[in-house]
Amino acid sequence: MVLQDNCGRPLLNLRVAITKHCNLRCQYCHMEGEERFNGIPSREMTVEEIVRITRIAVGLGIPKIKLTGGEPLVRNDIVEIISGIASTRGLADISMTTNGTLLAPLAEKLRTRGLKRVNISLPTLNAELYSKLTGGRVEDVLKGVDAAVKAGFNPVKLNVLILKCIGNYDFSEMVNYAKKTGTILQLIELEPINISDEYYSANHKALDEYENMLKQEALRVETRQFMQNRHIYYLPDVKVEVIRPTENAEFCRHCTRLRVTSNGKLKACLMRNDNLVDILTPIRNGADDPELVELFKTANQNRQPYNQT
Ligand code: SAM
Repeated sequence: MVLQDNCGRPLLNLRVAITKHCNLRCQYCHMEGEERFNGIPSREMTVEEIVRITRIAVGLGIPKIKLTGGEPLVRNDIVEIISGIASTRGLADISMTTNGTLLAPLAEKLRTRGLKRVNISLPTLNAELYSKLTGGRVEDVLKGVDAAVKAGFNPVKLNVLILKCIGNYDFSEMVNYAKKTGTILQLIELEPINISDEYYSANHKALDEYENMLKQEALRVETRQFMQNRHIYYLPDVKVEVIRPTENAEFCRHCTRLRVTSNGKLKACLMRNDNLVDILTPIRNGADDPELVELFKTANQNRQPYNQT
């Protein structure tokens, strides 16, 4: 049985922010759409709480779990979190999105404990620009990419946020880097969440020119039906996925996701915080599994396409 929302969209993915803390300070960060600090000290879910929430989700027919943050690798119990989730019966896929800077020493262990795939955020290969955008060192990310490939994650995807300030010169370098490392590129459009209007208008770039270029070079193009109908371009020796969420009704119509915020609330849409369903408080107050299932069902009914036209 797979849950469907009121618009008939199946619920197939759970994206869990396991912390709000991060070792980088990316100037564009949407913080997974979470509310900015509201004066209430943040609470973080324990390993057991995360595993219980994901077990309920899998029991409701959600086969795929993705961990995010903040930066998931800043948690010093990340290996236990992966082991716990990976041992859930019925789970088809567990992946993580990470900035990659802390991945190199952990990749092998995470792989053997059951993590299947990683998305590594890499907006640019230019060391100076990377440092300006994120506060980190691109060499650390590249070591993370190498370690991820070596550990056998399949696939390793590079999340490339497209920003005006990066410029086109970077793109062909990025394609060559993906070819060399055997990784997949995911081009992501900047979303206007938790960033200023000024930053958005100075940096948002529509992805049409990339898609036009890709269409010309691609051997074939595919549409991923259960991943927001995003397009995948098969260039010779490298795959490029394009994610265009902004004002895109098609994207929302094919969204199959529910989120868990870093403070344990079920979040129906990246763009909204007015219909969150708190699951962590009931867990801490002793709720049993059927009660948690009902909370998931309520959150699922809160899912609605954000862009409808
Ligand atoms: N720290 C991890 C990382 O860097 O991947 C996980 C959290 S990060 C918020 C998750 C993803 O969101 C990254 O791939 C990042 O590129 C993307 N992202 C961050 N801010 C964004 C924005 N304003 N618009 C679109 N994507 C964004």
